[in-house]
Amino acid sequence: MILQPMTKTEYSDANLYFRERFGSKVYKAAISIDVTCPNRDGTKGLGGCVFCSLGGSGEFSAKGEDVFEQIDNAIEKLSAKVPPETRYIAYFQSFTNTYCDVSYLEEKILKAFSHEKICAVSIATRPDCLPDDMIAMLARMNGIKPVMVELGLQTIHENTAEWFNRCYRTDEYDEAVRKLKAAKIEVITHLIFGLKDETREMMLQSVKHVVDMGSDGIKFTCLYILSGTKLEDEWRRGQIKILSRDEYFDIVDDALKLLPAEMIVHRLTGDGPKSILLEPSWTKDKRSVVNYINGRFRKRSVIVR
Ligand code: SF4
Repeated sequence: MILQPMTKTEYSDANLYFRERFGSKVYKAAISIDVTCPNRDGTKGLGGCVFCSLGGSGEFSAKGEDVFEQIDNAIEKLSAKVPPETRYIAYFQSFTNTYCDVSYLEEKILKAFSHEKICAVSIATRPDCLPDDMIAMLARMNGIKPVMVELGLQTIHENTAEWFNRCYRTDEYDEAVRKLKAAKIEVITHLIFGLKDETREMMLQSVKHVVDMGSDGIKFTCLYILSGTKLEDEWRRGQIKILSRDEYFDIVDDALKLLPAEMIVHRLTGDGPKSILLEPSWTKDKRSVVNYINGRFRKRSVIVR
């Protein structure tokens, strides 16, 4: 019997896209500002999403007094490994970065823009924290250097969202995407595969919805069990099924086939903070995950808008 080589599934890779767009290799410099989250402080809910760590998913943020110093420190860490012409996206990663006064975030973005190595900013937030004046400010900033907004949707299914304590409805995501796109701001949507009781069909329905809404980019990750989260308790009680590497990437494979070529894939799987990561254990060996991805998927040349 002759074994046929497996055809690799293609996707439009963010690194190629950024290189094309900014003319050099681009890395993200993760930073944090003084914000919290409305489903942690009681405005929408308490305790946050069940999988969210105490650091509000910002464990990789650089240290430093202010935005400029954090960017400097993040660049310093990488500088020995990357060419000098490398540029960076300031990634406002932890908690909900638009859950603050418009002027506060505007000042932080302008500070990031003033760093010569910064070619763009990416703002992680929730769709229910994007009032019109915030979007107007982001649109103004987008006229100086590119601004991207990253929305943590995770699923379109309300029952799942209720289980993990998301505290906003999927139609609030839809509305935010429409407004951001009307303001010509690039949108990146985050989805999690492996949420409790979700079938493969449900996960793919979420992907399809994100495509239909016209999100410019997408990030996939598997469900992580982090120490100190509410999810850890459920996992210890045996109530959470962890996806194996093959199960997870089979879903990713199907998901990629639903994406239009112009949708940029910013992440095929996440990178849990090792010091508090309990499961999935296969994600801990980053090199083997990268090798697996390279063996199964192919980056394709990217359309720059
Ligand atoms: S919305 Fe984001 S920051 Fe807030 S609890 Fe959920 S994952 Fe954490």
